[in-house]
Amino acid sequence: MEEPRTDEDVPERIEIPCFRCGVCCMEYSPRVTAAEAEHIADSLGVSLENFLERYVDDSWFEPGFYLIDNQDGACIFLADTEDSRVFSCLIHPVRPEVCREWQPGLERKECLEGLEKCWGLSVDSSGQLQGSEAKIQEFQSALKSGKSL
Ligand code: SF4
Repeated sequence: MEEPRTDEDVPERIEIPCFRCGVCCMEYSPRVTAAEAEHIADSLGVSLENFLERYVDDSWFEPGFYLIDNQDGACIFLADTEDSRVFSCLIHPVRPEVCREWQPGLERKECLEGLEKCWGLSVDSSGQLQGSEAKIQEFQSALKSGKSL
C-alpha cells in the first residue's frame, strides 16, 4: 500500500490544524519499525506477538518494518467519535514516526477531501476557505473548541 507523502514532497504548505477528518488514515497504512511496534504493543498492554497477530498486515513484508492493518477501509486504530465529522486515533500518544511527520495542510489533497466531505468547504487558490458563511463559522469554531489534534 502507498505510504504517506512526507513534508519534503510538498512544495508549498498552507498550514491548518488537523481537523481529524481521518481521510489520511483511510487512504494510507502506516509502516512501523520493530521498536515502534513494541512501544505500541506495550501501550496497549499486549505482547508483541499478540500485537502482530491482531494489528499488523501479515500479507506485507519489508525487513525491519510492519504495516499496520486496515480494517473497514481505514487504519485499524482509527475510531469514530460522537461527531461523525471527527475521528480519533486510538494510539495517538504512541503513534509511529510516519504519522508524526505527516503535517496537515490545505495544499494536501487528503485534507481538501476531508474539508469538502465533512464540512462542505473548499479552498481558493490563495488558501482562503470557500463556502457559506455559516459553514465557515461552524468549521472555525470547531477548530477553536479543540476538535483539532
Ligand atoms: S485534516 Fe488532514 S491530516 Fe488531519 S485527518 Fe484530515 S487528512 Fe489527515
